[in-house]
Amino acid sequence: MADPRQIIADNVARVRDEMAEAAAAAGRAADSVRLIGVSKYVDAATTELLLAAGVRDLGESRPQQLWDKAAEPALADARWHLVGHLQRNKVRRTLQASPVIHSVDSKRLLTAINDEAAAADASIEVLLEVNCSGESAKHGFSAEELRELAPTLGDFDHARVLGLMTMAARDGSQATAGANFAALRTLRDELHGVCPPGVSLAELSMGMSGDFPVAIAEGATMIRVGSRLFAGLG
Ligand SMILES: *Cc1c(COP(=O)(O)O)cnc(C)c1O
Repeated sequence: MADPRQIIADNVARVRDEMAEAAAAAGRAADSVRLIGVSKYVDAATTELLLAAGVRDLGESRPQQLWDKAAEPALADARWHLVGHLQRNKVRRTLQASPVIHSVDSKRLLTAINDEAAAADASIEVLLEVNCSGESAKHGFSAEELRELAPTLGDFDHARVLGLMTMAARDGSQATAGANFAALRTLRDELHGVCPPGVSLAELSMGMSGDFPVAIAEGATMIRVGSRLFAGLG
């Protein structure tokens, strides 16, 4: 049996090589894309191996799992990212881990995060999730809703909106994913013009194990990769 530590280190190295290749092909600097290791598939001990392999940005999709791992002393060096749906009644507890919240999918949730952060005298970084594929099962704002929300983003003093996040359609083709990611970038460029000063929407969180190279080609600044990092662990 191969050593899990080695398997994960090799997987991380391969993903980083592919990230650098995709960035170079797009004429972008390698360090313009941040790898977020989505650790939702594994326990805290295995998550620690990701940290050991140099992946400090860790993502969870369930708030409860994020709370539990954020409380692990061995994972104290991680920077946390919540990438899955957040219910308003879990906001307060979630803010204790100070994650970047990628999955803000309604004005009500953004307001709740802002209010709780204000009460805690904290500032929390968030991304607005966009439903680019139009699939009804997916969370996220429509482009129309964001055009309405964007000019008001300066009102949220304690929730700093860094950018947009999306997931590609489920059909799995690279062409569809590329079209979804290009649509997110185009929407960002459009919204940039109506955002208040100080809100730049510079970050684009898009791309997962199956489609991160095409996401980087389309301008991703954060990719959320899970299963590729744990391949071969059995
Ligand atoms: C699970 C998950 C990922 C990672 O997906 P992989 O295909 O395993 O890389 C990325 N983003 C979100 C929102 C997820 O839930």
